[in-house]
Parts: sequence; structure tokens; C-alpha cells
Amino acid sequence: MAIDPKPASMTQPFKGDDRLNSKKLGLRQEALDAPDSGIVEVFNYGRGRHGLIPLYVGESNLPAPSFITHAMVQSLQRGETFYTYQRGIPELRSALATYMTRHYGVNFEKNNSPFSLENFFVTNGGMHALQIAIRLVAGIGDEVVVLTPAWPNFIGALIVSGATPVEAPLACASQDGKLAVWSLGLERLRAAITPKTRALIVNSPANPTGWTASLDDLKALLEIAREYRLWIIADEIYGRISFTGQRAPSFHDVMVEDDQILFIQSFSKNWAMTGLRIGWIEASAALAPFIENLIQYSTSGVAVPSQRGAIASLEQGEEFFAEQLACFKGNRDRLFKALTASGRAICALPDGGFYVFAQIKGEPDTRELALRLVDEANVGVAPGTAFGKGGRECVRICFAREPAQLDEAIGRLQTWLQKV
Ligand code: PMP
Repeated sequence: MAIDPKPASMTQPFKGDDRLNSKKLGLRQEALDAPDSGIVEVFNYGRGRHGLIPLYVGESNLPAPSFITHAMVQSLQRGETFYTYQRGIPELRSALATYMTRHYGVNFEKNNSPFSLENFFVTNGGMHALQIAIRLVAGIGDEVVVLTPAWPNFIGALIVSGATPVEAPLACASQDGKLAVWSLGLERLRAAITPKTRALIVNSPANPTGWTASLDDLKALLEIAREYRLWIIADEIYGRISFTGQRAPSFHDVMVEDDQILFIQSFSKNWAMTGLRIGWIEASAALAPFIENLIQYSTSGVAVPSQRGAIASLEQGEEFFAEQLACFKGNRDRLFKALTASGRAICALPDGGFYVFAQIKGEPDTRELALRLVDEANVGVAPGTAFGKGGRECVRICFAREPAQLDEAIGRLQTWLQKV
């Protein structure tokens, strides 16, 4: 049976007649309402093109380093192929407690304290952590406020859960027709809150804008969450990919024990582990039985070899991470300089993460632009239409690549910008 086509992007949600069709098909409306990712559309369009440099997805071209894959292979060779702990193997949760203590100034290594390894729950990537966080706090009839432009999966995952995403756009000021500056629009955020609001999703450093919340921003967000009794879903997966300090400001710096915060975290970006599908949730230990059930009833745990690789990344991964970070910073600077020097682009110099989000003058239809850049420049970028309000006129360019490849892509983009 042919299923009705899904919308081409999140800018065209399912409406009217399609709703009738969903009833005919006997499928859940929330499942049909899930928007196609505008990034995947361009990704599929560019798939298999000879020599294409794919800067549309958020990952490096490097495979996971050998100290990680070695730990995984050893795990397989030891026969660690059985069902495992729902929360993650104790060795990994303990390594997380040590790692977070080292980098976030909260002592998770104390026993019998509110902060300990009992706060950590291993998931199948940050995406699964997000799904569990949403399932904990919002469902049909509930609203969740998302700061946009935002990673499309926030909105997609909310729709699938039956909750309604409500966008609170960041403010964007443009200076000299070249430089964009993103900032938190607290008034817009307050205006987005209704009696149905259950949570705020805050991603800092942000994908795609690179906007990084200051300590004052985080305090203000926390005040709002306390005032309206909202949960904060804090996606801090790019927290250490920060170009302004040792790490980006974190809710850890401003919260107290009773604050309602669910942290989304991932091994994907720091250690080039995107395909190994491993991340974690950090939450109050009081939520353990519920989170454990949500893991049981979704994935039933994370493959132990991936968990062994994750331990290796936490315990031996600093040198690799430092090299990556230095490479990302150089890449960011060269890409930003080339785009602004072209006179055709307006973009921010991102404080964190590994994306430049650029508006190309004279190219308002960014879906079409991204498809054309595949054909005409052999470079893949993600269209702003995928990221919600306030970003439709920009494209996201991932700069997490080996410098030579990024420079080749920059050269192609420069040539294209001069020609068109
Ligand atoms: N959060 C953000 C902001 C992201 O950009 C991504 C990946 N692009 C994720 C979470 C999820 O990452 P993963 O599932 O690979 O851990």
C-alpha cells in the first residue's frame, strides 16, 4: 500500500486532508506529523556524488581514534555480547562521575551525596537521551518551548511524543552587513510560555548558530524555569567545544540541587564517535527508576563494546580532544574570514560548537540553495529551513573536518560566491 508522502520539510506540516488519510491508514497522527529532516533531504540528494565535500551533517571525517576502537574490539573478543545494565555498566557511570567532576566543578565522586554516579544514565546517543527526557516531562496536550534556530530533532522528537513545540526565536542583530550576533530574547521566551508549558529546551553552545549562553543567560533561564515550575532540558553536548574558555558556561555553574534539569550529553562530537551511538542523561538520582524503565522500554540498554569505547574516551581521550579542538578553531576562523570577505555572507563567529550559520545575500530560498550548492559547487550544506524560525535564510556549514578538506570546500564556495 502506498503511504501518503510526508511533508518535504518542517515548514510544511501535515494538514487538512492528510489528517483524514492518517485515519484511513489507521496510523498514529503524531507519527505521521513528524517532519522530514530538511538536512536529510539534501544529504540524500548529495549521496554518492563523486568528490562532494559533505558539510551538511554534524560530524568529522575522521573515524573514531584507535584507542577507542581497540577497547571495543577487546570487549567483543572477551565475549561482551550479552544483555546489560539498563543504566549503563558501573565502570562507565563511575568514569562519567570522575570526568564530570574534573570538568564541571561538581563533585560527583562522593558517595551518599546528591551528586554521584547515580546521576548518570547511559543512552544510545544524545538523541536517545533527548527522547527519554521528553518522555519524562511532556506528552499529548503539553507544550515545550524551544530556543530557535535549533537542531531539527528537538522539534521532531516533541511532535512524535505528541507534545507541541513552541518556538522562542533567539534575537539576531546584524552589524556592517557582515557580522551576525545572536542573543537570548527573554521577552520572546516569556511570551512563548502558557499554562500548558512543561519544559524549556536550551542547547548551548547551540547547533546551528553557535550562540553560547553566558552565565547571566543561564541564571535568567533558570529563574524563569523556577518561576513557572518548568523542567529545563539542557543539551550541553558541545559544552567543551568552546572557543572562548576551557568550556562553555553550564547549568552546573548556576543550579542548586533541587532545580529541575535534565542534561543531554553525548560522546559523538568530542571523540568522533557519531556512529557508535552512545551518550548519557544526567539527572537527579530520584528519577533513576523512571529513566531505567524508559531505557528498558525503548532500547533495553547500550551495547557493551560501545560502553567500553566510551570509557576509553573519558580516560584516554584528552589529547585527541585537544587536537580536535585546535583544528576546529583554526577551521572556524578560516571559514568565517572567507565568508565575510566574500561580501556575500552575513554570519556570526561562533563561540562554540562546530557550525557556521551564514546568510548568503540574494539567496532567500535556502532549500533550493543547498541543492544547487551540491550541483554547482560539489559542497553539501544544510538549509536553514530545517532549523525553525529565524534561520530560514541561512545555511549551516559544519567545519569539523581535516583542514585540507575544509580548505578545498572553502575554495569551492568562494569560487561559487564570486560567480553567481
Ligand atoms: N544535540 C545536538 C544539539 C546535536 O547537534 C546532536 C547531533 N547533531 C545531538 C544532540 C545528538 O547527537 P548523538 O545522537 O549523535 O549523540
